[in-house]
Amino acid sequence: MNDRILIIGSGLAGITLVRELRKRDKAVEILVVTADDGSFYSKPSLSNAFAAGKAPDALVLATAAKLAQDLDVQIMAGTFVLGIDAARRVVRTSRGELAYGRLVLAVGAAQLPVPLAGDGAPDILAVNDLADYRVLRQRLAGTRTVAIIGAGLIGCEFANDLSLGGYAVTVFDTAAQPLARLLPASAAAALRSRLEAIGVVFRLDTRLARAERAAAGCRLVDAQGGATHHDLVVSAIGLRPNLALAQSAGLATNLGIVTDTFLRTSDPHIHALGDCAEIDGLFLPYVMPIMQGAKRLAATLTGAPEAVELPAMPIVVKTPACPTVVSPPPAGRAGRWEEESGADGLRAVFRDAVSQQALGFVLQGAYTRERMTLAAAMPALRP
Ligand code: FAD
Repeated sequence: MNDRILIIGSGLAGITLVRELRKRDKAVEILVVTADDGSFYSKPSLSNAFAAGKAPDALVLATAAKLAQDLDVQIMAGTFVLGIDAARRVVRTSRGELAYGRLVLAVGAAQLPVPLAGDGAPDILAVNDLADYRVLRQRLAGTRTVAIIGAGLIGCEFANDLSLGGYAVTVFDTAAQPLARLLPASAAAALRSRLEAIGVVFRLDTRLARAERAAAGCRLVDAQGGATHHDLVVSAIGLRPNLALAQSAGLATNLGIVTDTFLRTSDPHIHALGDCAEIDGLFLPYVMPIMQGAKRLAATLTGAPEAVELPAMPIVVKTPACPTVVSPPPAGRAGRWEEESGADGLRAVFRDAVSQQALGFVLQGAYTRERMTLAAAMPALRP
């Protein structure tokens, strides 16, 4: 019987899982197959590396060769997995078939395509991995004005970083406020005004329609016909899990690859971890759920099954102009924000309409110090 654990993907999910497996089992055969070059880097640093003066190479924490040596793991870099034959327990790759005993999908998520017409649309950059970031850094050279489409978490972080880096940044969004899905209006207004104070221009309530190539850069045209020129356009409109491989294996998928709390997909020999997974109905494309999940999955794969715990996991928004931590309340829960604010920041706690139980919070400025205490008081995402 083939006992090999085959992991597809060498991002935070794939490599953290290898580390956790090795803590428990020095002998089990582990093979990582990855489309990229297999080097391990901090993806969250992509949106705050510029102002910190970190070149793309400085973000690499370990090369594939170093990981392979340190963790006693085989890494097949530059190898695309094209499909999964779950009945035969093999994956088809650009270098031939590979058999597995247990398979882990750690294939991440991809940026949503930008829904703009025009010949400039293909030039719009999305920055979702280190290779994209290298392109961004090359294309920033010699430019001055940058448009960012999307005022969500990643859009605001890039806006802050590039603005500190000396670029004139304009952020577009169809919503009326930044981080519209995460923040109450007061916290969003504070974030907006702090970013405006360092030079970021917001064009909210704006639906872009077209991107047209211009002599230098790009002309963005909104639905009302208003046009602005930018040297470079970056998209930060959101992610969607990579589902194609799971679908090729006939696995259940929804927004992500459907798993139970043991990270098991609808095939008992295949698990999923990280940005590609939807755990018990929750899509949590962040670092903390990956760290938690990798630990539990390593236990499960080495014969001591453990369900993931899903405590409230606050998200740190890396906008130094307005330090912000958010623990979003569960979607659809009725309630109200209870707020306290002053010159040094804001605390907003979301309380259930009936029980008054605290279900989520936002902290800004000096209040971010309360993050651990408040997080401990939040209910788990899944009881
Ligand atoms: P990925 O890192 O996307 O890895 C996927 C892997 O799968 C890659 O190695 C890829 O090559 C491989 N792969 C995919 N398809 C195939 C295939 N067919 N064949 C072979 N290999 C394949 N989270 C936070 O909690 N805090 C933050 O501050 C934060 N900041 C962020 C800033 C930015 C700019 C971005 C983009 C994300 C940020 N995140 C943050 C999210 C966090 O970085 C991700 O949740 C995490 O890195 C995802 O890791 P992953 O391993 O699931 O996916």
